[in-house]
Amino acid sequence: MALKAGSTIGILGGGQLGRMLAMAAARFSYRIVIFDPDPLAPAAQLAADHVRAQYDDVAALEAFARRCDVVTFEFENVPVAAAKLINAITPVFPGPKALEVAQDRIHEKTFLNAAGVATAPFWPVDSPDDLEIALDRLGGSGVLKTRRMGYDGKGQVVLKQASGAIQVNALADLGGNNLIIEGLAPFASELSVIAARARDGSVRTHDPASNVHRNGMLAISTVPAAVSASTCAAAVEATRKILSALDYVGVLGVEFFVLESGEILANEIAPRVHNSGHWTEAACAISQFEQHVRAIAGLPLGDPRRHSDCVMENLVGSEIERVEALCAQSNVFIHLYGKDEARAGRKMGHFTRLLPKT
Ligand code: AMP
Repeated sequence: MALKAGSTIGILGGGQLGRMLAMAAARFSYRIVIFDPDPLAPAAQLAADHVRAQYDDVAALEAFARRCDVVTFEFENVPVAAAKLINAITPVFPGPKALEVAQDRIHEKTFLNAAGVATAPFWPVDSPDDLEIALDRLGGSGVLKTRRMGYDGKGQVVLKQASGAIQVNALADLGGNNLIIEGLAPFASELSVIAARARDGSVRTHDPASNVHRNGMLAISTVPAAVSASTCAAAVEATRKILSALDYVGVLGVEFFVLESGEILANEIAPRVHNSGHWTEAACAISQFEQHVRAIAGLPLGDPRRHSDCVMENLVGSEIERVEALCAQSNVFIHLYGKDEARAGRKMGHFTRLLPKT
């Protein structure tokens, strides 16, 4: 049964993704309660209530669960124990399994391969010997990453024919163990798919986006993607396999590397709405945020078709100062996140430039 208007959706995490989910939920007359220790959580500005507690505060999690009709999360590093505890009281979508898989890069890539989705080759690294052996197998180049808690390119080092001393330093910089080394994917471009799966198993996907990253962080998404129709279809097919293997409910983002040949390798999954899907708010009748709300509320999914081509650009740090100039331009949809301080590297907002559909 679908959630009735006036029901309460709880969101673990109160960043910009939670804020945009709250905005979409408000249009369906759902009440939002944010759980986030940060008193300045951007989503809390738009929520009915804000529980300021730590993610291991059992009493606070239980009380939060009891007042929500359904709970979701907006970042993948929510402790699995917190999601399980809540799930015993009120449903959590997507379930704790998606969190477990996405939180550890070894689990993630092992899961992807088992689901029939190709990735770059990878090995766990817990010592200098592990690193040396893996780099030998990879012909001397690879990306060393932390297994857990990495995001926006943080917690990773590219190694290209690096000397023993550089290898040892990179290992030490990343904590020495609990690491993964991946083959350096010789990608021609990067692609992502935003897809939703409803409680009844039906799936709808937005059009894939071509993404450009700067310093490991998404900078620009362009739709339609600059890849062939068969590459797009392969990415959508891989995403469907992932959704079904996770028995997923909600919106999932999957990032892919596209090789010169047009073949794809999955890089990572995000069990939540995703930065590379922000354009959907401007270029589609149904955004990724509304689609997620519909999925977790048990409503039918919407038609994710695009009415325009578009380019989405993040406004990071002082780029927020571009807003006035952007306001003067036509067909530019601006979205700011309510953050007080424009620190370097902080995502402050984004804009989507709409273009005639080709
Ligand atoms: P990640 O945190 O894994 O999403 O990585 C952030 C960005 O770093 C990716 O979007 C790529 O641009 C680059 N990157 C990460 N892993 C690899 C890889 N195995 N091969 C090539 N580039 C990578």
